[in-house]
Amino acid sequence: MQHSGPGDAAPVFSPALAPAQGAAAATALFCEAFDAEPDGVWYAPGRVNLIGEHTDYNGGTALPIALPHRAHLALRRRDDRTVRLVSSQTRDSVDVLDLDAIGPKGTPGEVRHWNAYVAGVAWALERDGLGPLAGFDAALHSCVPLGGGLSSSAALEAATAVALDEVNGLGLAGTAAEPDDAGRARLAASCVRAENEMAGAPTGGLDQAASLRAAAGSALELDCRTGRARRVPFDLEGAGLALLVIDTRARHSLVDGQYGARRAACERAARILGVELLADLEAADLEERLADLAACGEPDAAELVRRTRHVVTEIERTRDLVALLRDGRPLAGDKLARAGALMDASHESLRVDYECTCPELDAAVEAARAAGAHGARMTGGGFGGSAIALVDADAVGAVARAVVAAYAREGFAPPAFLDAVPSAPAGRLA
Ligand code: ADP
Ligand code: MG
Repeated sequence: MQHSGPGDAAPVFSPALAPAQGAAAATALFCEAFDAEPDGVWYAPGRVNLIGEHTDYNGGTALPIALPHRAHLALRRRDDRTVRLVSSQTRDSVDVLDLDAIGPKGTPGEVRHWNAYVAGVAWALERDGLGPLAGFDAALHSCVPLGGGLSSSAALEAATAVALDEVNGLGLAGTAAEPDDAGRARLAASCVRAENEMAGAPTGGLDQAASLRAAAGSALELDCRTGRARRVPFDLEGAGLALLVIDTRARHSLVDGQYGARRAACERAARILGVELLADLEAADLEERLADLAACGEPDAAELVRRTRHVVTEIERTRDLVALLRDGRPLAGDKLARAGALMDASHESLRVDYECTCPELDAAVEAARAAGAHGARMTGGGFGGSAIALVDADAVGAVARAVVAAYAREGFAPPAFLDAVPSAPAGRLA
């Protein structure tokens, strides 16, 4: 008989709520908290990034998909400037805010914890010239894991943005059938502002663009310099593949300084090299530029070299994967092997040069590859959070079991798993 230990435990999958279920949960919470019916329920997805990590704030390219896991926000417009918020995840009582009194983190108007991601969007829309807005009551029910590197924060911001767009008649989001991409880019910019200034997380914009501008069945090529977003074919099901998300449950915090330190290092490296953004560096003469950087005389020059090398090579890898996915051939054979190799190389670069992985992420990626994944890498900001593995559809269970077993051997808490089907962007539920 086989030895039965914790490694034999079955993988636990976090399912996406069906839209009707998510809407019902948000509505029930709303009715209970506010003793009234909401005007509607809006939703927005979390995301995974296929490749192009830590490139957004460097003006590079990223390649996210929207997840079927969403934040659902039941919202009702008010006639005054009050905002009342409740979330089924925090089990808090109702929080009450005043749109005329709130302000950025570090100022007297600073907004407590998750409220910054909701009220902060109203604040940012007004600062971006789209106000004044009406106050509102809102109830949140999300199935995007919190702090798991899958952008529960951007899902919250994007759901708020499309809801406020509609109840205030801003006319920016368009409809689900016909999304207004330029309008959504404006909403995304305000969401980034909310996250940066109100929540104090210096993230670069990938997450909000993915949640608002992605498309079902596609990946989104996002040029973070120009803001241009284009669809890239990514039919996993048609190719007999699945994208397995491994939520390590090692919790990162984007506000704890590491993310900001990486971003600051990139900005310094760009200044030293005389470019506006690291995306301006050409891969062709990268070695020469890195030699210049190594000789710059800064005490941390070697570190700046590693950070820069990651960013420039990652932008190249992203271009390569986009070109590959666009070549019209099925995602199989040598094309699949090449896509997997690009994902693997991305993880190595993030591990060695960007130093933003962690033992749980590295173990997930190694175990998935050993169990037959075509490619695997961390996704999101890193320092914990989630990894993705590109696997044959019929190998999902085996790869997940292998990761569970590896975690048991390492003494890590069991991970959770999600099935990342490229899904629709933020919108309104009927
Ligand atoms: P990620 O975006 O990868 O999930 P972040 O640290 O950026 O991680 O955002 C997580 C934060 O977003 C949480 O700590 C919480 O403040 C807020 N948040 C997200 N979803 C919810 C929710 N459903 N209820 C309350 N807060 C939430
Ligand atoms: Mg986030």
